[in-house]
This record gives sequence, C-alpha cells and structure tokens, in this order.
Amino acid sequence: MKTHVRVLVVGAGFAGLGTAIRLLEEGIRDFVVLERAGEVGGVWRDNRYPGCACDVPSHLYSLSFAPNPSWSRSYSRQPEILAHLQDLVARFGLSPWLRFHHEVEEARFDEQTGRWHVRSSGGDFTADVLVAASGALSEPALPRLEGLEEFPGKVMHSARWDESYELTGRRVAVVGTGASAIQIVPAIQPLVERLVVFQRTPPWVLARRDKPLSPLVRRLFERMPLAHAAYRAWLRGAREWMAFAFRHPRVLRLIERLARVQLRRAVPDEELRRRLLPSYTIGCKRILLSDDYWQALRQPNVTLVDGGVRELRGATVVAENGEEHEVDTLVLATGFDVRNPPIAKRVFGRGGVSLADAWGDHPEAHVGTTVAGFPSFFLLQGPHTGLGHSSVLIMIESQIEHLLGALRFLDETGGRALEPTPAAQRVFVEGVEREMRGTVWVSGGCKSWYLDESGRNWTLWPGTTRSFERRVARFDPAEYTTEAKERPRA
Ligand code: NAP
Repeated sequence: MKTHVRVLVVGAGFAGLGTAIRLLEEGIRDFVVLERAGEVGGVWRDNRYPGCACDVPSHLYSLSFAPNPSWSRSYSRQPEILAHLQDLVARFGLSPWLRFHHEVEEARFDEQTGRWHVRSSGGDFTADVLVAASGALSEPALPRLEGLEEFPGKVMHSARWDESYELTGRRVAVVGTGASAIQIVPAIQPLVERLVVFQRTPPWVLARRDKPLSPLVRRLFERMPLAHAAYRAWLRGAREWMAFAFRHPRVLRLIERLARVQLRRAVPDEELRRRLLPSYTIGCKRILLSDDYWQALRQPNVTLVDGGVRELRGATVVAENGEEHEVDTLVLATGFDVRNPPIAKRVFGRGGVSLADAWGDHPEAHVGTTVAGFPSFFLLQGPHTGLGHSSVLIMIESQIEHLLGALRFLDETGGRALEPTPAAQRVFVEGVEREMRGTVWVSGGCKSWYLDESGRNWTLWPGTTRSFERRVARFDPAEYTTEAKERPRA
C-alpha cells in the first residue's frame, strides 16, 4: 500500500523545513518530508568538523518567516545553527510531517495518473507534487589519489567528520584550502603535533570580524521584531552591491586591495605572503572569511605545501612538488560533487527519462526551480540559484513562494500537473547566461566548482537577491502548461 500525499518534500534541511513551514501557513497539511538521516539539519547536520561555522552573518542566516533573534555571535557556529533547525521543528510543530530514515531511491512521474511514484528506504508514496530540497552541497568530492585505499591511518572528509576521533598529538595532513579547510586548520592547529596543509590554489581571504553579540542586542531583537527585521534588511541590502562588483571585475580590485592589506598585516613574512597570494581576480572563487587562518599557518607546528597531492605511499603523502610528509591522519577538505547530485539520477519525468539524462552536461531549470518534462517537480537550490555574496536562504524562500504560487494556481484551475514550457525555460536560461558573460566567475582566471568542464557557470545567479526574488517568487501561469484533472474522453 502506497501512502498518497499532495506534496512530497525530499530533505529536512533549511529548504525542506522552510517548505513545510510555509505549506502549513498556507493551510496545506497533506504533505510529508522524507529525510534520509535520523535527524533534521541538512549540511548543518552533516558538517561537524572542528571550527565549522557560517560565513554569512547570523542575522541574515535564517528564514525570514522563521527568524532567530537570539543568535549568540555575529557569525554562527555549526552547533548553534543545527540547534536553530531543531528548534524550528518544535516551534512550528513539524514532527508529524517528518519521516526519518526515508531515503528516496526513485521518484517516477506516472503520465496516466499525473502522479509521482516515490520509492524510499522507509516505504513507498504517491504524490501530486514532488519537491527536491536535498541540497546542492551534500555529496563529498573525494579526490582520486593513488594509494588512498592503502593509507594506514585515519581518513576523513570535512563533511563526514568522525567526532569520536582524538586529534591531540596527531600528525595531520589537510588537503585543500577552501571554505571548509580554512575553518578546520585554525581549529585543530593547537591540538595536533604536526599539521601539513596542501594548498593547490591559494584562496582570497578577508577578515570575518566575528564577535559575540551582547545580551542587550539579543534582548532588543527578541522583544522588537521590527528592529530585528530592519537590521536583517540592512545586512541584506549592504551586500547587494557585491552582485554589481562580480559583474564588473574592475570594481573588485578595491576589495582585492583590502585583502592584500589584511594579508600584509597578518603575515609579516614576505615569502609566506607571496605563497598565500592568489593569482586570479578576487571573487572568481568564493571569497573566504576568517580571523585566524593566516595566524594558524604561521605557527611552528604548521607546514604549508604548495600544490596538491600527487600520491600516497603508505603513510607518506607525496606532494605534486615532490615534498614528502609522513602523517597518521588525512583530512580531505576537497569540497562537494555538485555536478552529479544523486537526486538527478533518481527522478524520472515524462517518457521515463531521468533528470540526469535530460540534463546531460548542461543542467538547467526554469527560474532555477522547475524543469520542462518533469511535471509538478520543484527543485530547491537548482541551477543558477547559488550566490557568492549573500544568504542562499533568501533564494530558497523565493523558490518556496514560486511553489506555493503553483499550488494555488492548481487549486484555482483544477489542474492536476504543470510544467514549464521549453520556450519559457530557454528564455530564462539564455537571459541568465547573457548576464553571466564577463562576470568574474567566468573571466577571473580561476577554476571553481561554480563552473562545468566547458567553463559554463550553471550554479550561480548573476544578480542580486532582490532581482532573483522579483523574477522567481511570483508564479506566472503563462510560462507553464497545465494538465487538466480529468482527461477529455476520446
Ligand atoms: P571547495 O571550496 O570546493 O574547496 C576544495 C579545496 O580542495 C580547494 O582548495 C581545492 O583546490 C582542493 N582540492 C580539491 N581536490 C583536490 C585534490 N585532488 N588535490 C588537492 N587539492 C584539492 O570546498 P569546501 O571548502 O568544502 O567548500 C565548498 C562550498 O561549501 C563553499 O564554496 C561554500 O559554498 C560552502 N561552505 C560554506 C561554508 C560557510 O561558512 N557558509 C563553510 C564551508 C563550506 P583548488 O582550489 O585548486 O581546486
């Protein structure tokens, strides 16, 4: 027996819980949220490495309809963000709709009934509408390193941290110098005996200026929601000009200058400074924020190795530059496989075509959210919804509003399924690709996970959060085809 629901949501991170909250606010109670793990949290449940924190200011890092006025720091740490997500479940009474240990194995659109058939590890469902809220950064990218299988010590990816593993006194190699690595390095440096950091490409880093928020500020925001909303709006607005800068890389030189000054202050050693200075335009890769990364690299128990890892020979890590370092712990802070999200292989639309096959090397979606050939399917954090300058939660909110607009439209018209017209999808994607030309992500002289093999940026939105909201939050029926509930008799 399959359980039927109107809306089936996959994933219980910010996007999935946010969808659940808004569905309930809209009076829709006929839904479930399937979660593969045993608790909510998404990336904030999976990333538990030492130092894990958010590089978006705390007060911009919650859903506007479920704000948190009580953040304890200007940039929140992972345990506090996870606790906030757990609190949302209690605050909005979401438990009855959550199904843990339900990993979606396959979701197939049935053209006869206009329903989705979903097989999960915890049971089977049918649904009128399928919402993939399974996240863009969920699958660790593991480097293919010769000798990795035979490494005799402990290997951990940043997103699969073993909290029971004792780091004190260890000799640790960290592979990577991205957003995760620069948080891990200063957190573990005081504990370990030796720390070897393999830097293939130096990142641009700016000061984060993280600090505790005073109890007075917290009380003010708790008691005066309007003041909190105004502060949040200011934080959001103050970041929007960066979207302009990303499209006019010359403006970025000003920020680059600031980063150079901060590097000079933090690293007096000229030789080390030279090795830490990136050769691409700032913003081409994500701009990293830290108050302690460079300081950690200067400590006597830390060695910075220029270049990636060539191979592992037993417990010896061999760098591309030939240096050899014997370690007992290998930390892979090597990022995520964004190009092959598992959900794309598991969702099958019209004609039994999987999303992965429909996309091939060219993932695209209408308004980053819906896909022609995949009726009543909504993909939160789909192509062109990422950001380099603000909170991705703002983008998710616009997508959720789009979904709710579609549900209202189906209610009003009595339609049973809808999908974007290929023409509307094309117009959207071509418009975004036009805007993408000349941006720092494609012209800044770096390789990043934002780009595919051909150098196309299909991950980011090239504008402001406001322009995304204007384009996406409103559902426009003219861009969709709708299937009537009852098929006309022949
Ligand atoms: P990442 O930014 O993709 O960085 C991966 C690092 O590993 C890079 O330095 C990369 O070098 C290196 N690397 C990859 N494969 C390698 C190999 N075979 N040999 C040597 N080095 C290798 O990954 P991430 O740090 O996990 O961050 C991913 C994204 O997660 C971020 O961009 C951000 O969106 C998100 N994140 C956010 C926060 C936050 O504070 N909100 C924190 C962590 C992560 P190259 O640069 O040379 O490729």
